[in-house]
Amino acid sequence: MYFIFEMEFSSNKHYITNLIKSYAQSIAMHVEIIQSANMITLIFNKDDEKLESFLLGLNERLPASIFLGKSKHYFTEHKPDFASIKEIHTPLNISLCPSCQKEMFDVSSSRYYYPFTSCNNCGSQHPFVTAYPYTRANSTMKFLVPCKGCQEEIKLNPFRKDYPLISCVECGVSLKMNDGKSERYANDKGSYRKLFEVSAAAISKGKTVLMKTANGYRKFFKPMSNMKLIDTILLIADAKALNEHMMMVTQEFNALLSIERPIVRVSTKSDEMKMLYGSTALVKYPDDGMTMLLARELMNAGMGYIAYEEVNSDAEADFLVDFDIPIETQKDSKLFINQDMRFFISGERVVFPAVVTTHRDVVSVAHNLAAVQIDNSMIIDTMERFESMKTSKINILQSEDFESGHSNEKTFEQWKGSMLSVLAEYDAFNEKAIGIHFDSSLYFLYYNGKEVINVVPPNSFDAGSMFDNISKLREGSDRLVLNYKKAYPVLCERLEKLSGDVDLFAVTAMMLGLKDESFEGISAEALSFLGKGGIQIDTRVNDNRFDNYAFLASIMSYQLGTVENSLMCYSIYESFGDYISEIVSQLSEKTGAKNIILTGETLANQALYARIQRHMGRKNLLFPKNYPIGKECAVHGGIYI
Ligand SMILES: [Zn+2]
Ligand SMILES: [Zn+2]
Repeated sequence: MYFIFEMEFSSNKHYITNLIKSYAQSIAMHVEIIQSANMITLIFNKDDEKLESFLLGLNERLPASIFLGKSKHYFTEHKPDFASIKEIHTPLNISLCPSCQKEMFDVSSSRYYYPFTSCNNCGSQHPFVTAYPYTRANSTMKFLVPCKGCQEEIKLNPFRKDYPLISCVECGVSLKMNDGKSERYANDKGSYRKLFEVSAAAISKGKTVLMKTANGYRKFFKPMSNMKLIDTILLIADAKALNEHMMMVTQEFNALLSIERPIVRVSTKSDEMKMLYGSTALVKYPDDGMTMLLARELMNAGMGYIAYEEVNSDAEADFLVDFDIPIETQKDSKLFINQDMRFFISGERVVFPAVVTTHRDVVSVAHNLAAVQIDNSMIIDTMERFESMKTSKINILQSEDFESGHSNEKTFEQWKGSMLSVLAEYDAFNEKAIGIHFDSSLYFLYYNGKEVINVVPPNSFDAGSMFDNISKLREGSDRLVLNYKKAYPVLCERLEKLSGDVDLFAVTAMMLGLKDESFEGISAEALSFLGKGGIQIDTRVNDNRFDNYAFLASIMSYQLGTVENSLMCYSIYESFGDYISEIVSQLSEKTGAKNIILTGETLANQALYARIQRHMGRKNLLFPKNYPIGKECAVHGGIYI
């Protein structure tokens, strides 16, 4: 008789499975652990005496993960037969597993307040790795010689067996702090701790601390209501502050605290937070060791949250905390959550390196990422990490500044790469599909079973000549422009100076006088609308395609009629949602396609998402699973051109 424990796991990354394997090894537990396509399965002998204590212990060691779903257990006579998915050894860039966290805060351990504490199944590994295969020799830690204790651990500790980046206080990376006058070093337990204590104290006194973290330079500070906080990230030092200041559903709370530690846009709750950030904020729970240790000291100093900006090494600050080992950082990842739906909005951390198990003789390049064949699979990672690429074909994103010199080179568009990525994720190449791609422009696409066609391309938009174009729309439009210029002279002076590449949403936000001049700004304002129905905003003139200038003209005339901002922003979503569903209905009727693929960062928006769900919820909507809905997924789609 077998006891089976199954956990849904929606990724082909292996860190949870490997952590369970290490744990089983550490207590000599006999268990078979299989990671199959959407599941991790543990197979025990039902009569094993250690079974209960193993499961209890696992509960303590297993981190929360955004990829983990429901779990169940049952008894069976016959051993289930699952096919394992292939594993390729790639460096992680996630937060710390519970065991490593315990070590980092245990004064008796050799990693007390050591910010680079990690094991085979956790931590900031990727920033230190320079090339494949993933070994210490291919990392910037190669010049640090592991101490005796670490050398023992590599052999004996199942969690750090052959761990390429093993290090501790004794043999690891030292830190330094500079306040413009003097420098202090951290290279033993006491001095590491002191450095973070001093940093936290400085922040609580209103000073800024520029810190090199495994995820890049971050400028930490105490947020105040007189600051411009729109582009800053709210760092929660104490989980209690999350409940006190933010309004969250369980899924958002769990995602923030998961070992992947994504950035999530969350609604504010307390008056204090509303004063600082308005209705929503981008929130982060500490991810890497540096940020976690700082957060611990902030908590000790009585601060539940601070803010940070992602900056370069030369940013101005009162204090600089730095280390000498070079790192190559990844763009941080944002996660979209709406009830049980979640997908990455944008970013590289956690998503890449990605392993693609279908093997094709091709290299795909997009946004400085490359998909390259290794070991009968493909790995997607930043270009610099691949020293050479052998291929008979190379597909490059159109906008990419990269010359391969390869004789069989093809370029592809973002919308094409994005749609193919999702088709591949669902293995849906055999069926026709409609695609909506919405970045700064809106595309309607059709996949006929062979290729992706741009069936309703966007009209071009030129912010530089917008008033001319609006004047020519229809009879009376020139008068509208004149009246608008008279009513809003200062704004119009600014609008007339815009260069052509400013996008439609930035222009709209400017016209409405929003602080955050982007699609996000419009979205935040829309959330504060408490009424029921919106007003009709024009989206078209002559043909079926969205007309940027008609859209702006419509907003201008409502503004002159003094329609309030929140209603206007809400109506913008309504109009987009309605327009999208109408075109999709027409296209699916015409083509018979059932699958609707959604890509492009603009769709990762609560208001628009709700609108689309309302209209098309019964259709087969396919959102990305493991790659961002934003531009980065193109490198994956590029494999299938
Ligand atoms: Zn660990
Ligand atoms: Zn050591």
